[in-house]
Amino acid sequence: MAPLTPHWAQPSHGDTQEVIINEAEFTSKSLSKTTVPPFGVFAKMDFTPCTVAEGGPTYATVQMGRNKHLNLNSDLLYINHSCEPSLIFDTGNLNILAGPKGLQPGDELTFFYPSTEWSMAQPFDCGCGKPACRGRISGASDMTDAELEGVWLNGHIRELLEERKATQAATATATAGKNGDLTKPSENGVSEQSALPRDTAADQTAQALQDALDSAEKVVEASRRALLSYLQSLQHSEVYGGKTNGGALDFSGLGGVQGLPAAGSQRRGPTSRELSGEMGGDTTILV
Ligand SMILES: [Zn+2]
Repeated sequence: MAPLTPHWAQPSHGDTQEVIINEAEFTSKSLSKTTVPPFGVFAKMDFTPCTVAEGGPTYATVQMGRNKHLNLNSDLLYINHSCEPSLIFDTGNLNILAGPKGLQPGDELTFFYPSTEWSMAQPFDCGCGKPACRGRISGASDMTDAELEGVWLNGHIRELLEERKATQAATATATAGKNGDLTKPSENGVSEQSALPRDTAADQTAQALQDALDSAEKVVEASRRALLSYLQSLQHSEVYGGKTNGGALDFSGLGGVQGLPAAGSQRRGPTSRELSGEMGGDTTILV
């Protein structure tokens, strides 16, 4: 949060929120002074001090509907963004809830700004340092579905995302109509190259969908080859009764794993748990 000049009496939430002001931009923050169970109410966005904002979003508003923003008019403005937030700003119900881990005194108070904001007045580069950090934060409208996966989002953001998806699908259908059938199967059933003309490829949405189609086609092709070779191997074993022939590998008698003693001997391979170290290295592997 950029430096603010508060126009309200401070502290506004002194029982529950400790505000730490730093001179440098984006370094002020808030800590919890209270314990809240998971999904319990940390604070309410009451009117007043909240007021409905005239016009669009500003650095001092949170979005509460597709065209509705509210001025917080309180120290709640000092709650930073995090990509792994401790709070849920449920602006539809005017509640600020603890996240799934609850809150302890000293925990930093944060929420995921794109969970309320569709398009932000002041985008910034997130420095939360979390493994799932999304980097540039400018509102949900600029984020992919994958970037928004697993995050609590307000109803108006979910609605707007659904509309975006419908618009993208309609654009893709229109593009496909303009350029003919994109999935014309050839004689052997393999889809033909379906590259879009250059002018269309410049459109990022069309390009993203084209990439998705290309990779889906690769999966289809790989599955087709796998099926084919499996059917061929069945045919082979029917003809030769499963015996070694002409360089084909004979797996019978290997206990299912080539190069290892057959099942029933003392040796066993490590489990995936052991390999991942979860069992702490105290597991003896018999040899
Ligand atoms: Zn982040």
